[in-house]
Amino acid sequence: MTVVLDGSPAAEGIAAGKIFRLQWGMPIVPHVTIAESQVEAEVERFHAARSWAKARLLELKRSTEVRLGAVEARIFEPQILMLDDIEVVDGTLRYIGENRLSAERAFEWRMLELQALWSRTSHPMVLDRLNDLQDLVVRVLHRLLGHHDPTDLATLEEGVIIVAPDMTPSLMMHLDPRTVLGIATDHGTRTAHWAILARSLELPAVVGLGDVTSRAKEGQEAILDGRIGRIVLDPSPEERESFSSRQRRIDLWEEDIAHIAALESVTADGQYVELRANLDLPEEAEEAQRHGAVGVGLFRTEFLVVGRNTMPGEEEQYQAYRSVAEAFPSGAVFVRTFDLGGDKFPMFLHMPKEENPFLGWRAIRVCLDQPDLFRTQLRALLRATAHGDMRLMLPLVNDVDEVRRVRALLGEECERLSEQGIPFNPGYKLGVMIETPAAALDAAELARYCDFFSIGTNDLIQYTLAVDRTNTRLSKLYNPFHPAVVRQIHQVARVGRAAGIEVSVCGEMASHPLGAFLLFGLDITVLSMGWPSLPEIKKMVRDIRIEDARRAARKALAADTSRDVTARLMEGIGSSVDMKAFSGRWSLSVPQ
Ligand code: PEP
Ligand code: MG
Repeated sequence: MTVVLDGSPAAEGIAAGKIFRLQWGMPIVPHVTIAESQVEAEVERFHAARSWAKARLLELKRSTEVRLGAVEARIFEPQILMLDDIEVVDGTLRYIGENRLSAERAFEWRMLELQALWSRTSHPMVLDRLNDLQDLVVRVLHRLLGHHDPTDLATLEEGVIIVAPDMTPSLMMHLDPRTVLGIATDHGTRTAHWAILARSLELPAVVGLGDVTSRAKEGQEAILDGRIGRIVLDPSPEERESFSSRQRRIDLWEEDIAHIAALESVTADGQYVELRANLDLPEEAEEAQRHGAVGVGLFRTEFLVVGRNTMPGEEEQYQAYRSVAEAFPSGAVFVRTFDLGGDKFPMFLHMPKEENPFLGWRAIRVCLDQPDLFRTQLRALLRATAHGDMRLMLPLVNDVDEVRRVRALLGEECERLSEQGIPFNPGYKLGVMIETPAAALDAAELARYCDFFSIGTNDLIQYTLAVDRTNTRLSKLYNPFHPAVVRQIHQVARVGRAAGIEVSVCGEMASHPLGAFLLFGLDITVLSMGWPSLPEIKKMVRDIRIEDARRAARKALAADTSRDVTARLMEGIGSSVDMKAFSGRWSLSVPQ
């Protein structure tokens, strides 16, 4: 029977395929003891699981080599070696033979023992092995328990829709968009970093479905609609037909994209609006151009570190930054330094488990504490400034001291580059993201040390309203139109104008039609967004008048509730934009 579940839209697009239940994480292993006569069979089962895991890892290594290259593929080597490690094998066999434990229980116990032993050290090599160990344990235990291999996403054979409690950025890095058609989760929100990555990979995603993991069965047919936030399990023939007709409409829209991309981005009353793209991967530069981006307002660099267990080298980084700078020879490219922590954890950094990771060791704080990692990135960035208008942007800055410290590091690295005769642009620009109330309130001070501000509304909203951006239960409270958010953006725009520096917005709010309208009204006319949204926002820009936006923004600034703010903006936008065309995509309800 058909089941329809509604959640929140997180990445556009629709998909039809079979459900694949992603059971990532440690499985529950029942405590089973065996008779002496079963020992041999359990030993064989253990060896079979080991051989299977080895074959899968070799396969994964080969396919990663084809997709990403030989260096990336090496991340699987420690796990392959570990499967034959005498400590692992003999210890497990002892538990089976002497303690009469089932193969899975014996393996689990031995691995817990090794984990405890190895975590006593702080040697980075051993800690690296711990991460590999965890991955391996999950893989082998699921096999022994007769489950799917949860980490085996790269070798899925069919077009599938992944169903999971939630995702992570590093799991996303394992996905192959050729085999995975969409993602549906119980939890999560549109601004979770994995959802941002899904949009970059053009993978439709629906989050906050509540209990999709208990309702969806393995292999069941499903239709996922990332625009309105819905999943239909066992769709009826009528639903299939409606899916096909929507697919045809999307294909037609695809044809419009080239036409819109070539149009000028100017309001009906003549105000030019600069539209830039947010990129999560360098390969997206081409698509961003095709969608009409004139530059890159936010190039997130975490792809270089998340899901990897070695630090990226200077040369690799330099090539990545340079390739994006060269893709936009006449536009600015804002590269953000590593924004780690929160929900993005590279394996090699051994980030501590924290009670509140979004309030913890994150972004600029991590970089300033890890000079090796940070200096390498700064050098690579400086070298890339020789190839275009590349600007350096710092995430989660709270005070001027952090900017001063970065300027000092940059000064030292510039000196070293000069001594070595390596080219860079000494007139490079450095700016900050305004993502915390501290930065917004201190904008006047920060402006003295910065060449630009870019407002990161995703975090600014989260920190202003004390609402975790990844928490589905709170998604109704995560409101970009809260008066406190609107006033802070207004204040930052004013300060930036007075200081003569550029103020742009690169958070999701820029791709929300009502959000963009408000930002124009606050005199922010440089917006950066996930490139799939660019054509729609440009269409809207051409339909509105900047004067209407300014008037509506003045009224919104005087409003005392989010509802009032949105009502005043809706009134201002009037009939110039068909809001219904946009409405389903936002967890925030827009009054109709
Ligand atoms: C933001 O916080 O608005 C932003 C653009 O950065 P991210 O979403 O990567 O945290
Ligand atoms: Mg942010």
